[in-house]
Amino acid sequence: MFLLFGTRASQSVINVVSFVCGYCGTLAEQRVIKRSTKFTLFFVPLFPFSTSYLNSCTHCGGTTKLTAAQARHSLEWARTHSVN
Ligand SMILES: [Zn+2]
Repeated sequence: MFLLFGTRASQSVINVVSFVCGYCGTLAEQRVIKRSTKFTLFFVPLFPFSTSYLNSCTHCGGTTKLTAAQARHSLEWARTHSVN
């Protein structure tokens, strides 16, 4: 019997907020990206074992690491500042 296991990384944009970028100093849209690495067995993703959050500037492409709390905060911020 043999087991084929590995990992698979995926990322998705979970939020977009606008603020002045720390790199380029421009008021630009900042994408909040969730990056997760999943454990796979026979190429089937089973469970995530590592999740990280990034902030990426759409103007200059500069990225900053975010904590899970900061990512959550950005979602709350977007909810209270959205124009509906
Ligand atoms: Zn920037």
